[in-house]
Amino acid sequence: MNSANGTTVLLGTDDVPPIREYNAAGRSPFFLTCDHYGRLIPRVLGDLGLPERELTRHIAWDIGIAGVAEQLSKQLNAHLIVQRYSRLVIDCNRPPHVASSIPRISEATIISGNEGISGEAAAMRRAEIFDPYHRRIDEIIDARRSAGLPTVLVSLHSFTPVYAGIARPWHIGTLYHRDIHLPPLVLKSLRAEGDLVVGDNEPYAVSDDTDYTIPVHAEARGLINTGIEIRQDLISDPAGEKSWADRLARIFAEIEPLLRAQRLI
Ligand SMILES: [Zn+2]
Repeated sequence: MNSANGTTVLLGTDDVPPIREYNAAGRSPFFLTCDHYGRLIPRVLGDLGLPERELTRHIAWDIGIAGVAEQLSKQLNAHLIVQRYSRLVIDCNRPPHVASSIPRISEATIISGNEGISGEAAAMRRAEIFDPYHRRIDEIIDARRSAGLPTVLVSLHSFTPVYAGIARPWHIGTLYHRDIHLPPLVLKSLRAEGDLVVGDNEPYAVSDDTDYTIPVHAEARGLINTGIEIRQDLISDPAGEKSWADRLARIFAEIEPLLRAQRLI
């Protein structure tokens, strides 16, 4: 760990801040989050004991979602917040007390840089990456509420086409738990596209143990929400990212008046 002014730190002067925001003045009711946007590693942690080929694959980040999220934010005029460090450093969509928060193994890869991590080192990852990200999401939602702007939280993710040897058929999935309003509308719109295999809580469902952003920021505050998971091979180049951003922008623009008509926003 670095030591400056007697204070031990994780992120040094060469490391970028964990949070980046796009279109912060956007007036859309949709507020976009991207927990697994980046795959940076704080300089002091080196490569976590992994070769480059591991640090660029899906265990480190949500491949392709960055481009989709940025373009969707622009097209919807929606505020987007992203977290730029790898989920192998600390997973910003896991409760900090669960084992997969700082994974010792991901899929079949041993993360040697996380093995035997001290409580102090784990607390530092939380204090410098996880906490600022979630504190900022809280502040944004509070500020929107104060400004009279409704918030519909959309948590953007991507999933690997093959996990542990099993191929996944879905092009896109909605993920949800307690919200009964938005996911059915998103599912209906996606199915109406006609060319998609749509996952209903596939390849994952939201739960309190495996998720953080939706349970803590949306469900606990009673906000309408959904998770979106796009298969990574569909957004592996700029053309794919654009076509999925276009499609989702069109779908969410169609859903907004439906939510307003039901007085949900
Ligand atoms: Zn993700």
